[in-house]
Amino acid sequence: MPNASPEPSSPRKQAHREQAHQDWHAKPADTVLDSLETSADGLSNEEAQARLEAYGPNRLPEPEKRSALVRFLRHFHNILIYVLLGSAAITALLGHFIDTGVILAVVIANAVIGFIQEGKAEEAMSAIRKMLALRASVMRDGRRQAVAGDALVPGDIVLLEAGDKVPADLRLLEARGLKIQEAILTGESVPVDKQAGAVAADAALGDRASMAFSGTVVTSGQARGVVVATGSQTEIGRISGMLSTVEELTTPLVEQIDSFGRWLTLFILLVAGLLLAYGFFVAHFDFAEMFMAVVGLSVAAIPEGLPAVLTITLAVGVRGMAKRNAIVRRLPAIETLGSVSVICSDKTGTLTRNEMMAASLATQAHTFDIQGTGYEPRGAIHLEDVPVDAGEHGVLEAMGRTAVLCNDAFLHEKDDGWRAEGDPMEGALLALAGKIGFDIGAERARWTRTDAIPFDAKHRFMATLDHDHENNAFISVKGAPEQILSMCAEQRTAEGGRERLDRDFWHDKAEQIAAQGQRVLAFAVKPVDPSHTVLEFDDVDDLILLGLVGLIDPPRPEAIEAVEACRKAGIRVKMITGDHKGTAAAIGRQIGLQNTDEVLTGTDLDSMDDTALARAVLETDVFARTNPQHKLRLVEALQSHGMTVAMTGDGVNDAPALKRADAGVAMGITGSEAAKEAAEFVLADDNFASIVAAVREGRTVYDNIKKVISWTLPTNGGEAMVIIAALLFGMTLPITPIQILWINMITATTLGLALAFEPTEPNTMKRPPRPRKQPLLTGSLAWHVVLVSLLFLFGVFGMYRYAIDRGYSIELARTIAMNTLVVMEIFHLFFIRNIYGTSLNWQTVQGTKTVWITVIAVTIAQFAVTYLPPLQKIFATEPVPFLDGLLIVAVGVALFAVIETEKQIRLRAGDVRTS
Ligand code: ADP
Ligand code: MG
Repeated sequence: MPNASPEPSSPRKQAHREQAHQDWHAKPADTVLDSLETSADGLSNEEAQARLEAYGPNRLPEPEKRSALVRFLRHFHNILIYVLLGSAAITALLGHFIDTGVILAVVIANAVIGFIQEGKAEEAMSAIRKMLALRASVMRDGRRQAVAGDALVPGDIVLLEAGDKVPADLRLLEARGLKIQEAILTGESVPVDKQAGAVAADAALGDRASMAFSGTVVTSGQARGVVVATGSQTEIGRISGMLSTVEELTTPLVEQIDSFGRWLTLFILLVAGLLLAYGFFVAHFDFAEMFMAVVGLSVAAIPEGLPAVLTITLAVGVRGMAKRNAIVRRLPAIETLGSVSVICSDKTGTLTRNEMMAASLATQAHTFDIQGTGYEPRGAIHLEDVPVDAGEHGVLEAMGRTAVLCNDAFLHEKDDGWRAEGDPMEGALLALAGKIGFDIGAERARWTRTDAIPFDAKHRFMATLDHDHENNAFISVKGAPEQILSMCAEQRTAEGGRERLDRDFWHDKAEQIAAQGQRVLAFAVKPVDPSHTVLEFDDVDDLILLGLVGLIDPPRPEAIEAVEACRKAGIRVKMITGDHKGTAAAIGRQIGLQNTDEVLTGTDLDSMDDTALARAVLETDVFARTNPQHKLRLVEALQSHGMTVAMTGDGVNDAPALKRADAGVAMGITGSEAAKEAAEFVLADDNFASIVAAVREGRTVYDNIKKVISWTLPTNGGEAMVIIAALLFGMTLPITPIQILWINMITATTLGLALAFEPTEPNTMKRPPRPRKQPLLTGSLAWHVVLVSLLFLFGVFGMYRYAIDRGYSIELARTIAMNTLVVMEIFHLFFIRNIYGTSLNWQTVQGTKTVWITVIAVTIAQFAVTYLPPLQKIFATEPVPFLDGLLIVAVGVALFAVIETEKQIRLRAGDVRTS
């Protein structure tokens, strides 16, 4: 690419956005680095910035969006609208142009409302997608940094580890045990081995072992590679269109209601058709009048606005959860979340803050206390409350060096203090090394890491092999004490010598430190021959134990509150950690878990069969020294009791448990991409409290879906009954079809929308979880629909008769009846807002902004239809006298009183309606 440039000094200008496709896989790594004008230390920040401008962001082109016009037109694609358009044509043929105009206006207004609502919902979803953006670890300005995946440019050096999603096409420079799953590109689901050596130029995509392709997932190992292609130039980008799936905003429940709505629509249209035939052929009504009545009936009975309002309800829920740091990846899970009955949580970083600090250090002879704050690499080391000079304790120096070498983290000083990049625990160990007296940068520069075994939750240790320039080579190891002790043969003495390992001594020490809630790590070393350059599992034995480090990681205060909230909400909390039993129990107690005396370890779990585990899982709240397979078994054991399980996870190995759980929750900060892809939710802040907040939102969404339905169905039922009753008894319609059209398609859709925005009811988290299989359309909901529909019928007919009896004109009587219906809908709305408790409190009156905006808007619209002469002409209305207006409101109050009393009786009779 640059060599083709006539102006070699400015290859960038020449490159523009064109990234020439080359056989990177077949070239030696050095050649690749040269031709991309970069080095193993990466680009400088300025150079990366400049290249970003030249090449453009590392992003696949957005899936093509349907144009606004198409989306608008789609709102006309609906049976009822077709019926209405047909009616408009027929009324025009009959010469009833006012009716035609009203029908068309209503249809268009309805589509506009739907279009705006849909826009809001889509906005919520695309905001979520942005929050899930990929981040990548790169080397820039000579140090490791986390950058947004779309900021990568050709020439960037990217670091990969197990669980990562490859952020761009990379030519590997270094790979250790690297396996990558490339199903997305090759369809092959078995992970393939990767290495840094060049392969044949004509190798097929699946055989290019020296490449890591964008979008594939690292299943194990570590690697370093140089970006050779970004954005649409990557292999995945060239298979265009593959990733451009647009997710529909729906859940099984909403789909169910959707299809219920479609069948209902068909049924109603059938009934309407029969009524029309009967009225025309048998009863010999006037066709035009009969036709409009039947159209009115269809409009009244069909809950056409329901799906749109439910979509909004979901979107509001998605946004509410995102605000509380829970990002929904799979929409159907919103429903599941509301019924979660047990949350299984990681400890480190989720229940605790993951802001670690070394607090104690135990050697064969002494136990030191470490002072200091945060990650600042300065602070005193105390022995029996007296500061010591680390230089006088040789073993401290050895531990400090191990802490620096066997470590992948970095410390930076920022304006607001010291920060750790990488694993917080490793950051804390670097700070410890600083306190011991090491200059971390200088020490790292003295050594070259020739090989490493990365930390894995399965084996619980990490080892590095380092060489210095004076022909020394060391293996440095750190990890869980049990694990390290099993690999040691000797221990370092206070005098700097070695002696036989005293296992019991160290075990007791580790228990002591863990009992204080500290995370314990053991440090060990082994000098090796300098010719040794490869580190295998077999090499890490016969180690020399240096000592133990205890790290504090205080519980998150919000987690303590959230655990308490779960208790009230009938949700159990289980801690599942890879940490030591003692540490886990101590932290469990601090955050308020119930059964912390009986801790089960991974080994205990292994010795149990599924039946024993199913029994034990109910009585134990803390599981320690577990590995990811145990998580899967625990999920299954809990599910065998019919529980709805939320499970957290971060590592690549957690994916099966996350998939199996009813609500898999991946960590947004520390979580691997593999875990995120397997999960239904991603926690932006890794915080346990956010899971509980999301459960609360989940319950709210479910409640609101239920409220929308409980409000809409009786509204339609009442309106339909009014028309059917009038037709059956051969009476004049108390509300004209045109008025019905107005009420149903404009006021009702506006009012119903308010319920999508309902806030959480005060007792939401004091109810037990909803049983998973409980149907939405319960008996009490059906009863509510029937009761309220009847009350609507009585209210409307009652007011109509009253007006006729007073000698009012039919037009005035109808105006009164129509306004009565709307007022009753409004009062019903206030009732529905509190389906689980009493509505008789100040909050009900206060309402919410959304409720009042919609109510006021609808009221103004009603006044306009009733009192404005031009509208009076269209809707055939007459001004309602003031006192009758008051009477209409009184009917609304009466409706409220009746249904509220009925609810109170039911609540007291113990029908708590836990759904
Ligand atoms: P948790 O469930 O608390 O996140 P992990 O599975 O991450 O536990 O870790 C389990 C144990 O492995 C820890 O208690 C610690 O002893 C050890 N460990 C964790 N991280 C590292 C690391 N980076 N290097 C070495 N050992 C580690
Ligand atoms: Mg961890």
